[in-house]
Amino acid sequence: MAKVRLQKILADAGIASRRKCEEIILEGDVRVNREVVDELPAFADPEVDRITYMGRRISSETKVYFLLNKPKGVLCTNSDPLNRKIAIDFVPVRQRVFCVGRLDKETTGAIIITNDSELANRLTHPRYELSKTYEILVKGQLDGESIEKLKKGIWLSEGKTKRSIIKVLHRGPNETLLEMTIFQGKNRQVRRMLARLDFKVKRLKRTKIGNISLKGVGIGNFKQLTGKQIAYLR
Ligand code: URA
Repeated sequence: MAKVRLQKILADAGIASRRKCEEIILEGDVRVNREVVDELPAFADPEVDRITYMGRRISSETKVYFLLNKPKGVLCTNSDPLNRKIAIDFVPVRQRVFCVGRLDKETTGAIIITNDSELANRLTHPRYELSKTYEILVKGQLDGESIEKLKKGIWLSEGKTKRSIIKVLHRGPNETLLEMTIFQGKNRQVRRMLARLDFKVKRLKRTKIGNISLKGVGIGNFKQLTGKQIAYLR
């Protein structure tokens, strides 16, 4: 591997953002081959050089990126004291991976699993407006007025949600199947938006993250993201 900027190596290893890693370097907490490096720019080869931060060795772990189709009843957490099923166990890799954001235990569908903490931090930052598309089975008939309200934004405890895109996929006598694309990721956002209008969600599935779709990935299965998809997320 060629030499790369030292702050990138630290950020890729999950120490902090690149910007913060620059400060960490200038403060003199980083050593390359036992020598303190406290000036920028600084470069190193993570596969050859011995890089430490406050005495801790930084590894040059290969970054991995997956899209999992999360089954119902599975948690998006790194470990569970009650030993319930967790999403990362569906992706058996050597690297220490984690979920980017969360889906509720009862929600199925698309979740990105990676060990790239820099990308994960960016994707989950409120300023980053990557769209998320959900298929929602709602109990009862969702009327035109409610659909307009969902599109324009719903007041939740943290403020009004951003505009969303809604398509009605099917209307049954007792239920409505919707596709909804939102541009933010508040906790339990879809369920809370519908609850505000007194509608209960019977089934919730995330079908897309941005333009990355679950097509071809069965429930409980995963696929590796392509280079193009990773570049799109960056
Ligand atoms: N909105 C929800 O209510 N739940 C999810 O899991 C994702 C979005």
